[in-house]
Amino acid sequence: MLYTRWIFLWITWTMAQPFAIAVHGGAGHITPHNLPPEKVQKIEQYLREVVEEGYALLNQGRMALEVVEIAVRRLEDAGWFNAGRGAVLNEDGFPELDAGIMDGKDKRVGAVAAVSQTQNPITLARLVMERTPHVLIVGTGADSLARLWRLPPFQNQGYPQSETLWASGTVGAVALDKYGNLAAATSTGGIPRKKRGRVGDSPLVGAGLYAENGVVAISTTGHGEYFIRSVLAYDIAARLRYIRTSLPEAIQEAFQQRLEPIGGTGGVIAVSPTGEIFFHFNTPGMYRAGKDAKGTLMVGIFR
Ligand code: ASP
Repeated sequence: MLYTRWIFLWITWTMAQPFAIAVHGGAGHITPHNLPPEKVQKIEQYLREVVEEGYALLNQGRMALEVVEIAVRRLEDAGWFNAGRGAVLNEDGFPELDAGIMDGKDKRVGAVAAVSQTQNPITLARLVMERTPHVLIVGTGADSLARLWRLPPFQNQGYPQSETLWASGTVGAVALDKYGNLAAATSTGGIPRKKRGRVGDSPLVGAGLYAENGVVAISTTGHGEYFIRSVLAYDIAARLRYIRTSLPEAIQEAFQQRLEPIGGTGGVIAVSPTGEIFFHFNTPGMYRAGKDAKGTLMVGIFR
């Protein structure tokens, strides 16, 4: 009897807890002129599906960390974004992918850079976090772990260059689960024709992603060098923690005071500890979607 009562209380409690998710498919020069309506429809539909799937998993009680990995893997598998199957090529004509994942519960991080043997670097990043004592593993070292752990091999030899405009963009996800955990994940092919061995912001904690329970979860996209130099994701979190501004203000100030003065362009998605979601970008467009704690769905591409 007592046992059933506890179960009842537990179910009622979990039903009342906020949860939320947001995803992006990159920011850049995305305008109605270079993105035909049928592609707009297709991408928006896909982003909506990824968000709805993630939201349903959170509703079932799955952890934020799992859900951001699943969402990013779906975006890597789409082949339309500059990540996973759709990754752009470096100046030598081959893909080198970067990804990072962070658990806001205990600030564990896993990341990989310049990998070319798996189309799901986000899963490799999570395994680095869970199965090794390290945070970031690069190049051939990371590739041999992908083979050892039998991750799906890399399928595509880079996205056709003519399609890169619409493939424009790194992918990322942020989530809050019912237990108050925040998590963030980011995955990318980097920038087209980058130098061999170039690593961007996406796998770097504090630049391409950041998550801390009770503070925020953030995933960024844009010209990585500027996000690294302004340590943008961490700067937003630090403003929240030390100055205690609101999340939209912290994002706006970080853009205005740190990213933009050095010439950086791009965008961020963020989720608060109470399940509000925010999108911000200073480019013409950003592929984005999210569902907040109130159940409000938002999907968009242009300003
Ligand atoms: N931030 C990524 C990089 O510089 C690129 C992007 O977001 O489109 O590697």
